[in-house]
Amino acid sequence: MKRPNVLIELDAAATPNPAALDAAAGCGDEWTASMNPKFNLVDTAEGLQPLLAEIALHETVAVDTEADSLHHYREKLCLLQLGVGERQWIVDPLAPLALGELARLLERRELILHGADYDLRLLHRTFHFKAERIFDTMLAAQLVGRPRIGLAALVEEYFGVVLPKKGQKADWSRRPLPAELLEYAADDTRYLEAAKVRLREELAAKGRLAWHGEICRRQIAASRQTRQIDRTESWRIKGGKHLTGRAAAVLRELWHWREEAARRADRPPFKIASNEFLLHWAQWIVEQPHATLEEAPERPAWLVGSRLKSFNGALATALALPRAAWPGPPPARGGPRRALDEELLLGRILAARDKIARRLEMDPGVLGSREALREVVRRRPQTAPAPDEGGGLMDWQLELLMPAILPIMKEGEDGPAAAGIAQMGDEPTSLDGADT
Ligand SMILES: [Zn+2]
Repeated sequence: MKRPNVLIELDAAATPNPAALDAAAGCGDEWTASMNPKFNLVDTAEGLQPLLAEIALHETVAVDTEADSLHHYREKLCLLQLGVGERQWIVDPLAPLALGELARLLERRELILHGADYDLRLLHRTFHFKAERIFDTMLAAQLVGRPRIGLAALVEEYFGVVLPKKGQKADWSRRPLPAELLEYAADDTRYLEAAKVRLREELAAKGRLAWHGEICRRQIAASRQTRQIDRTESWRIKGGKHLTGRAAAVLRELWHWREEAARRADRPPFKIASNEFLLHWAQWIVEQPHATLEEAPERPAWLVGSRLKSFNGALATALALPRAAWPGPPPARGGPRRALDEELLLGRILAARDKIARRLEMDPGVLGSREALREVVRRRPQTAPAPDEGGGLMDWQLELLMPAILPIMKEGEDGPAAAGIAQMGDEPTSLDGADT
């Protein structure tokens, strides 16, 4: 039966206590979130204490997070779900709560996460969180070669439970959150520990536990690094990458207008204006390269007030730019033009990788990404790299791939055979003279 969609107050002060929870399970409409039998809500300092005590008793904690990037310009942590033993806890990081002690305690536990990358980065940004040990169920599912690696798919296959999807687009920064959304959030950690047991067995049966350990350690290290994103080329959105000259100038200016409007409104950029809308204006210049502001198409009815004013300003700026200030041609994909023999070698290595992946019944990208293999080709190793020196490749990947890669490298030194082109990968390559 569906529960009534009760709005619960997140500032309810009651400390969850198991007896009250059991009683609440039978009493229909009366329950509130802090009495919900399906999870404990933590949004007060008093409510936090039993959680800390519980975590201290357990070696392993299941973890998930929810953020609000679909609804705000600057993403923030909105919920922290924890599965400790049999019980699910939902911590409200937006409540006036000091969570430093909780974070430090969690760092010393083994954490089970599904697709840890995003959660760990968010936790690192929020609490300077440094996980020590994780078990990533998604990476495990990939490694054992499961065709469906989403949490819902795993839960359905292992436990016959179908998880609802309604929370996927929710605004987790809203308060109070409807009880059914909180229940949905609690389900994200409910099955992780049991799924770990199953996946661990499968990894062990295939002799891949050590591989998984290495991937998880990589994941931890990656989450502690702040990604440097080069924003100078971000305006080249999908559908507009080929634009040059004045049309590119219009797209670049309007893209910056959208970012600024999004920042001011604390909304994600796609809620200010769609990519199609920006491209529509660039397309206008493609069709009329010498158009003036007076000839501009009408602005849509939803664009009003100060946002219309700033849009008109950006458009006027773009149209007035002298030729010298137009954007240059887009940077070549993957950096400088790649040498022919490099492409040939990569194509042969990718083919070898695919063959090994088939034998192992895993996705080739899991065995070694195209980018990591390209790096190998650039370095031209004549012997297998020492452990930890594999660049983008982990040790278990080196072990599996190098016996196939080294002979290809050696042959490659004797000069590339033009006949090899036919075996190249699926990526379009830019060969000298090919685009004239
Ligand atoms: Zn979740």
